[in-house]
Amino acid sequence: MAERNVVRRQEYSSLEKLLFAVRGCRACESQLPLGPRPVLRARESARVLVVSQAPGARVHASGIPWDDPSGARLRTWMGLDADAFYDDSRIAIIPMGYCYPGRGHGGDLPPRRECASLWLDHLLAKLPYVELTLLIGLHAQRHFLGRRRKASLTETVKAWREFAPEYLPLPHPSARNTPWFQRNPWFEGELLPGLRERIDHLQPARERLLEVA
Ligand code: SF4
Repeated sequence: MAERNVVRRQEYSSLEKLLFAVRGCRACESQLPLGPRPVLRARESARVLVVSQAPGARVHASGIPWDDPSGARLRTWMGLDADAFYDDSRIAIIPMGYCYPGRGHGGDLPPRRECASLWLDHLLAKLPYVELTLLIGLHAQRHFLGRRRKASLTETVKAWREFAPEYLPLPHPSARNTPWFQRNPWFEGELLPGLRERIDHLQPARERLLEVA
């Protein structure tokens, strides 16, 4: 067992090697209707981490996370254009489940749990500069906030200041949540300006130097 652990540590001596291993993962292949296609991206210098649920069928096809209208809304929330959002030296994108899990009765199935148990801690250990983690949806909030999470997603998101500066809980930016956005005007009026302010301050060191010069 000790020998196997040594092998794993050598295997994951860098984030690039770890991502290569994750992208080759076939742990729950038999449960995935479209087969494995882990969709995640990260570089060690990232200062912001986006954690959501699992890729939908469209993202499974493109291999690009948040490549859909929900992604466009998320970028608006963050005040980023697509180039900045997909700059993985700045923004890491790691969902709770990395492969499309398939459809259930009320929409997509929940993210596979195997990803978090096999890979998530290894990935987080390779992201030492992350200062802000966006927790999008219940699954991410359950995992990262544990007992600090409130009784409902609305209450957790409403208490966003309690989890700062490390975490910021968010609802899913899907158009299906439009009634929720309308019922909770504090989200757009208070939380989103707070989110954009944090994102603005988490510029990579190189960009800050350019600003100072
Ligand atoms: S869902 Fe996660 S654990 Fe399952 S094959 Fe994909 S990456 Fe591996």
